Amino acid sequence: MEGGSARGIGYARTTFEQICRQYPEERPCLEITDAPAHHLRSFHIDCARHFFSIEELKKMACTASFFKLNMFHWHISDDQGWRIESRAFPRLHEIGAWRNGDHFGNYDSDEREGGYYTREEVRDLVAFCENLGIQVVPEIDMPGHVTAILAAYPNLSCQKNQVQVGMKSGIYRDIFCAGQEETYKFIETLLDDLLELFPGDYVHIGGDETPKVRWKTCPACQKKMEEEGLTSLQQLQGYMENRIISCLKKRGKTAIVWNEAAAGGNLDQDAIVQLWTEDKEGMTQAHVAKGGKVLLSTMMNCYCDYPYGFINTNRVYSLDTKPKELMDAAAQCLRQETKTSERAENTNAIIGTECLIWTEYVRTPKRLEELSWIRFCASAEVGWCGENRPGYEDFASRLKGLFPVFEEYGIHAEEPEGWVPSQEETMRQLMAFKQNLRQSDLDEMKEAQNEI
Ligand SMILES: [Zn+2]
Repeated sequence: MEGGSARGIGYARTTFEQICRQYPEERPCLEITDAPAHHLRSFHIDCARHFFSIEELKKMACTASFFKLNMFHWHISDDQGWRIESRAFPRLHEIGAWRNGDHFGNYDSDEREGGYYTREEVRDLVAFCENLGIQVVPEIDMPGHVTAILAAYPNLSCQKNQVQVGMKSGIYRDIFCAGQEETYKFIETLLDDLLELFPGDYVHIGGDETPKVRWKTCPACQKKMEEEGLTSLQQLQGYMENRIISCLKKRGKTAIVWNEAAAGGNLDQDAIVQLWTEDKEGMTQAHVAKGGKVLLSTMMNCYCDYPYGFINTNRVYSLDTKPKELMDAAAQCLRQETKTSERAENTNAIIGTECLIWTEYVRTPKRLEELSWIRFCASAEVGWCGENRPGYEDFASRLKGLFPVFEEYGIHAEEPEGWVPSQEETMRQLMAFKQNLRQSDLDEMKEAQNEI
C-alpha cells in the first residue's frame, strides 16, 4: 500500500478491509489508485433537539470512518438545548441543557429532558474521532436558534426578557442582540472556553433561520447599523458573523456558516458557506465568485431525518456536486483573478459534502441509526467519488455485500428493501411523517420565515 500521507494509507487499509468483507472466500486480484474528490466528507448529528450519549456517538463515528467520512459536524446548541459543560458560563449547562418537556409536533411529554457532555467526555470523543481520521466540528448556532443560551443569559437578547429553553420545533424570534458589545464579549469568551476542547481547523457558527423582528426595533441594533453604515438587517447579520469569523481567524480557525448568513452580501469570503436551502438570491453564487468555498448539503438530497420515502437513497446518491451556477461563478472568479491579482484560484469551490440528521422527531439511538445508515453511506461515496460515481445500482449492490458490517458495529441500518421504497410505501411513510407536524406549528414557522 502506498499513500500520500498517513491518512491516505489509512484509507487504503479501509478499502482493503471493505474488499475482504465483500469477498470473504477469495480476494480478487486488482489494483486500485484513488483519492477523494472532496476535502470534507461530513456527517452531522443534532444533539440539541435530543441528547445522544457519547457511546452512541462513538458508534456512529466508527461506522462513519469505515465509509471514509472525515468530519463530524456536531450540533451542540439550539433553541431546545445547550450540550457542553462550560467553564466560562456554567449556567449554560446548568440551565440551558434542560427543558421542562418535549412537545415536538404531535408528541407531548412533560418530563424533564436534556443533558450535557462533560469537558472530559468531549475531549475523549474528540480524541477517539481523531484516531479514526475524523475531525469534530462543533456548531454553536448564532445569532438565531439561541433560546437555550438566552434562558441562561437573557441579557444577550435585544429585549432581555427571561425565556425558557424551547420545547417545540420551529423558528424562535428572540435572538442575540447584534448592537450591544456585551454580546460580542460573551461570544469571544465562549469560543475561547470551547476551543480548548476542539483542536480542529473548523468551527461552525450557524447563521440560519434568523428572524430579525427584534433587531428592527432595538435601539442598540439600530445604532450599530448607523455607525457601521449598514443598509439592511441582513447586512447587520453579515457584520455580526464577520466579527465572529475574525475572532476565529485570530485563533487559527476557519468558520463555517449556513447560507442565509451570506444574504447581506457582506460576508467575509474566508468563511465556508454551507448551502442547505435554494440559493434564491444568488448570494452563495456571489460568495463563490469572490473566491469563497461551499459545503454542499442541499436539503432535498442530504437531509436524512426525513423518511426514506421522501428522500430515498438514490436521491442522496444523486447529489449534483458540480451545480452549474456555482461552477459558473467559480470560473468567473478565475477569469477576474487572472486579470487582476495573485489571489488563489477558486478551483475547489466545492470543498465538501455533508449528510445530516436533525432530531426533533428522533428520540432513540435505534431511530437515529436507521435514518442515517444507509443514506450516510451514499453521501460518503458522493463525497469520495464526486462526479465519477459508478451509479446507484452499483453502489447498492456493493453495499449489500457490506451489510453484515452494520451488525458487527451494532448499528440498526435500514434493510435493503427500504432504501428506495415503493410508491405505496412512500405514501405510507409520508402520511406517517405528516402526523409529526402540527398545523399551528407550521403556520407559526411560515410567519417567522417571512422575518428572516
Ligand atoms: Zn439588539
